[in-house]
Amino acid sequence: MSADNATKVFIGLGSNLDDPRRQIQRALHALAELPGTRVLKDSGLYLSKPMLADTNSQTQADYCNAVALIETELEPLELLEQLQQIEQAQGRVRKKHWGPRSIDLDILLYGEQVMHHERLTVPHPGMHQREFVLYPLQRIDSTLEIPGRGMLNELIKNCPDKGLKYLGAIEV
Ligand code: ATP
Ligand code: MG
Ligand code: MG
Repeated sequence: MSADNATKVFIGLGSNLDDPRRQIQRALHALAELPGTRVLKDSGLYLSKPMLADTNSQTQADYCNAVALIETELEPLELLEQLQQIEQAQGRVRKKHWGPRSIDLDILLYGEQVMHHERLTVPHPGMHQREFVLYPLQRIDSTLEIPGRGMLNELIKNCPDKGLKYLGAIEV
């Protein structure tokens, strides 16, 4: 693939239902199959605490998270649609915001673009304060700058890891 019209994109992956490790593996494979797309790197697997407790104040299961660096010829909204198709194929059911899910695929960064479309905000609006995004990103590229937010290494200083655990490489 020519790199001329391809953009480097970071994707955040998260799962806490139906064998989360396997869900992350499957999603990485699915990313590699997208048209005009290659997976360049991944962060390895992390375990994190949920952002939201489930109903009746019971906690949700812990999350498996990872970040992938891809290179793609897909435009941002085309990529979003493809990611939502992968989520559907892996049984994502949207019940409540930040509720348990088989797989969540978010566009964190799309090159250096900043966009505010009704369906897509880039950089991802919550990424600069989420430990399960910043630490995996740092493992891939510690020199990153998040447009409009600052240097990754500075953002991490203000983001305690709240028990985030690195589980090791993702078997592919
Ligand atoms: P959060 O976005 O806070 O991590 P979530 O991932 O659980 O929450 P979803 O239910 O997966 O939220 O997505 C809700 C909507 O967010 C999607 O329908 C999509 O249009 C929109 N969206 C806006 N910006 C992005 C982005 N950068 N990546 C993925 N989806 C986005
Ligand atoms: Mg999300
Ligand atoms: Mg999402």
